[in-house]
Amino acid sequence: MRELRRAGSVTPDTPVDDLRGVGEGRAAILQAAGVRTARDLLYFFPFRYEDRRHPIQVRDLRSIDFPVALRGRITSAGLKTTAVRRLQIFEAMFDDGTGTIMLTWFNQAWLANQVKKGMELAIYGQPRISSYGRFQIENPDWEQITAANEQEEEGAIVPVYSSIAGLGSKRIRQIVNQAMPAVAELEDPMPPLVKERLGVIDLRPAVVRLHHPEELDESFVASRSPAHLRLILDEFFSFQLRLRVRRALEENREKERRIVVSDAIRERVRKVLPFRLTGAQKRVLKEIVDDLQSPHPMYRLLQGDVGSGKTIVALISALVVVENGYQTALLAPTEILAEQHYERLRQLVDGGLRIERLTGSMTAKAKKEILKRLSEGEIDLLVGTHAVLESKVEFKSLGLAIVDEQHRFGVAQRQKLFEKGELVDILVMTATPIPRSLALALYGDLELSVIDELPPGRIPIKTHVRGTSQLLRIYQFLEQKLQAGQQAFIVFPIIEESDKIDLKALTTGFEEIRKMLPGRRLGMLHGRMPADEKEKMMFSFKNHAIDVLVATTVIEVGIDVPNASVMIVMDADRFGLSQLHQLRGRIGRGTEKSFCILVRDERTSEEAKSRLKSFESTTDGFQVAERDLQLRGSGDFFGTRQSGMPRFRFGNIVRDHQFMERARDEAVRYLREEGVARSLELVTRMTAGDHGELAKD
Ligand code: ADP
Ligand code: MG
Repeated sequence: MRELRRAGSVTPDTPVDDLRGVGEGRAAILQAAGVRTARDLLYFFPFRYEDRRHPIQVRDLRSIDFPVALRGRITSAGLKTTAVRRLQIFEAMFDDGTGTIMLTWFNQAWLANQVKKGMELAIYGQPRISSYGRFQIENPDWEQITAANEQEEEGAIVPVYSSIAGLGSKRIRQIVNQAMPAVAELEDPMPPLVKERLGVIDLRPAVVRLHHPEELDESFVASRSPAHLRLILDEFFSFQLRLRVRRALEENREKERRIVVSDAIRERVRKVLPFRLTGAQKRVLKEIVDDLQSPHPMYRLLQGDVGSGKTIVALISALVVVENGYQTALLAPTEILAEQHYERLRQLVDGGLRIERLTGSMTAKAKKEILKRLSEGEIDLLVGTHAVLESKVEFKSLGLAIVDEQHRFGVAQRQKLFEKGELVDILVMTATPIPRSLALALYGDLELSVIDELPPGRIPIKTHVRGTSQLLRIYQFLEQKLQAGQQAFIVFPIIEESDKIDLKALTTGFEEIRKMLPGRRLGMLHGRMPADEKEKMMFSFKNHAIDVLVATTVIEVGIDVPNASVMIVMDADRFGLSQLHQLRGRIGRGTEKSFCILVRDERTSEEAKSRLKSFESTTDGFQVAERDLQLRGSGDFFGTRQSGMPRFRFGNIVRDHQFMERARDEAVRYLREEGVARSLELVTRMTAGDHGELAKD
């Protein structure tokens, strides 16, 4: 069967197992990786390229700085086993007429059956100097030179693909080449008008060029060639259009509830306020209340640095909605934060609102009681965790849902909230100061409100970077603060909470601290503790049953302990700047001057030193975030635990952020000019192949 297929008949929809050289086994591997058709292969782009057009000669080998391409003949080959670690090494002597060089492959004994004496090879690899002072190449790529492949692989710019399970780059290259003819029938869903306005080329040549570049010039290497731009904008544009369309579908509907702000409501708000709002708080409050009063559902992101006063804004918004006869839900990412909000809101309204909480750890009986009252409209404001999203939680008339620390909530969760009432208004609050480019990527369909001003009277936090040699003095300083009745956090880096080595650093660190601070009440907190133990520990710290909390970054988000005025971060160079900023935000919330001490290894690199140094002098979260983003890229920026971040297969939100803005502008324009129906149809077509790996909710 297979032999009968003509090469020319490959189309984008041809299944991979119909391609030459792809049997059942390989097909299964490809399919498991989501590569099912020739189209998927066309979209499986190389991650780098090797220029093998200029083979040099062995006698011209001068440096070990660059990989080289050579052509020659194998003069001897054999397998040997090292005495010490019993590694199998396949060695082959390679001769190109100008000199000889040894090729070695480790643990690839099967090569003995493939690379034989007398064979003519093109090789590519990084030369090294052997212990005998001669050039050698370890694990080179190789290709037998035959009349048929003479000019194909070697002697060209060769695409290098990520390997998939057992399939190496070279094998994948061969398979992708089989799929290449399908490009002729690859449909280009992007309308010509959009292409023109975005300034991008057609899809087919772009795909071809990404597999087989004509030149590895500067723009190509920097992912800025016309081919790259086409694929990046493809992804970003369809992503933005999808967000916009979804939003438009919601916005087209009109809310039944009519929210008004009467004098009576104004009076209530005034009574609740314990202080004068800052200018920024007033401004965002107006934006929110305007949305609440508008006939279309609100979908707004409220961004404000730690301590900027988002809670009161949330509360007033809730008051407005409740006074109009609707319920409000406030969601926090953890129980402790839900609890904290609950306590603070209750204090603020002082019995004026019927506030309740709903969390996972409540008894079934208590929950049932809450659910009953909720559905009967006897609760005005429900504060809770993810538990609020469960389908059995029914509101009588939910009008507003507020989500704190959004990036831990996905878009799907928002949808659930939205459907818990009649076109629920949604306000998302985040303290992560997200640079605009990322905000667009994450929340392209949200309106943005920013609190860019801290409440007056804050005592600025002092930040110091110190080497480990000064630890003793740091502990002395800490002891003084503890004697004065203050509390402190000491944070250890745990990058992966499952990492045993990191966890050990925490526990040994804990023991050391115990020795340094005799008689002090210490607590330990990390992500692998059971949830209820974590909660208990946090509460003990809050209630000052503990003086020093030794912890991982689990304390990063939202915790409010005004009496804590010292934050010591160990191995500070292992944290990202934004993370440090969040940690620093845990202190400076009370009346005492606060200190953030970043402890770094004496041997820290110069680069890390200057990074920490720059952090010492900036307190502006946005500046910190921009810098962090430039330094680290978006993946690290958000860390592994945050799920809300869309993943792009081709575009890179950091590297390509200006294109995200361009894509958004075009999506907005397209939607306006062409309408929702046509836009929806385009989104469907553009994302049909699913190869774009758009944000999966
Ligand atoms: P965020 O949630 O944005 O990090 P919070 O809402 O927890 O910040 O506010 C931080 C602290 O500042 C709280 O103790 C709060 O009472 C106080 N605060 C907020 N707004 C003001 C204001 N306008 N004037 C004085 N204090 C304020
Ligand atoms: Mg907060």
